[in-house]
Amino acid sequence: MAGISNGDLADLLATRAESETGFRQKAFKRAARGAFLWPEEASDLLAGARSLEELHSVGPFIGEQLRGWIEHPPARSAARDSLRRDFLTLAEARKILARDPTWSERLRGDLQMHTSWSDGSGAVADMAEAADLRGYEYIAITDHSKGLKIAGGIDESELLEQGVEIAATNARLRTADSKLTVLRSIEMNLNRRGEGDMDVAELAKLDLVLGSFHSALRLKEDQTERYIAALRNRDVHVLGHPRGRVYNYRAGLSADWPRVFGGSSKVE
Ligand SMILES: [Zn+2]
Repeated sequence: MAGISNGDLADLLATRAESETGFRQKAFKRAARGAFLWPEEASDLLAGARSLEELHSVGPFIGEQLRGWIEHPPARSAARDSLRRDFLTLAEARKILARDPTWSERLRGDLQMHTSWSDGSGAVADMAEAADLRGYEYIAITDHSKGLKIAGGIDESELLEQGVEIAATNARLRTADSKLTVLRSIEMNLNRRGEGDMDVAELAKLDLVLGSFHSALRLKEDQTERYIAALRNRDVHVLGHPRGRVYNYRAGLSADWPRVFGGSSKVE
């Protein structure tokens, strides 16, 4: 009964959702997504006589389905649907990290995170505290910009207010002798011409600017020109979540990636 991974279970849950409707379909889909954040392999939990309901998005009904699959793994169909291929689960990531502890020691920071200023759930200070516990040297606060209303994007004046909060957090970190610095940043919404939605003078005050596409993410045609336009935007330092893929939901965009990431000489 060993061997069935959370990724396999997610695939079974997502496949099963396709033949369900309504409330049950939602429960299967939610559990398929949830499987990526389960901290341990569900099969290990079961082997340790623990309840699968410890896992996020797993109630008695889904738990019974999972138990059945873990105890009697179904024959694997050929390849996973492309919407569900090449995603790494948290349990897999943890196993990879455990094989080489120096890897996480070398991890110095995190350059994308949202806070309660947009669609995240923690305050700037909470992010700093968590980063400090991980021994990070820097984090960038990259809340969404004003063009992305659905994610509670912030405008220039909110960005300034957030800057005050970040400065106060940094002052506290210095007093506490922490090695962490909180960087002022933003995940700026880009239109299809690679243009941002924020006042350039305000962007210049930031330590780092991410640029991300959040619309027209289901187009099938090659999007190389759109990415190159974004990289020509001199206010943008980092291209955020380039493909825009979401597990079992959106296939993401495609482009001539070697050309997009091939260096500035090719985009001038
Ligand atoms: Zn984004």
